[in-house]
Amino acid sequence: MFRDFNSPVSAWRNSEQRYTLNGMCCIVCNLAYYAKQYVCECGSSQFEAVVFSGKGTVLSFTEVHVPSIEFYSLDPYILALVQLVEGPRLLAQITDVALADMFIGAPVESVFRRYFSDGDGGLIYYGIKFILVR
Ligand code: ZN
Repeated sequence: MFRDFNSPVSAWRNSEQRYTLNGMCCIVCNLAYYAKQYVCECGSSQFEAVVFSGKGTVLSFTEVHVPSIEFYSLDPYILALVQLVEGPRLLAQITDVALADMFIGAPVESVFRRYFSDGDGGLIYYGIKFILVR
């Protein structure tokens, strides 16, 4: 079992967060957050839910050769710091691309892809990755 995916129930409960780029936006200053916040940088605690476009830019990247056990079957894979067009930054896998084709500033968009499976007969976990926009 995987630490964040330890039962079908928790996988289902967390599915919305893993399947969509849900965030929040401060209704006072319009600053967007990908991770849930309780207080904005402006001091406001009033937010509205937003779904981000999934479009962004690569700020930095690396190729991971020693992944955590959950992603061991993907070894090696590309992990990037992506800045969404709405502003928030997140770490995400870049898929369907060779390391030689990656560059800082590359335009990317989110896609729904398989992460890994929990053994031969276990759950198959899906989530958001990014691809280069060519
Ligand atoms: Zn604010």
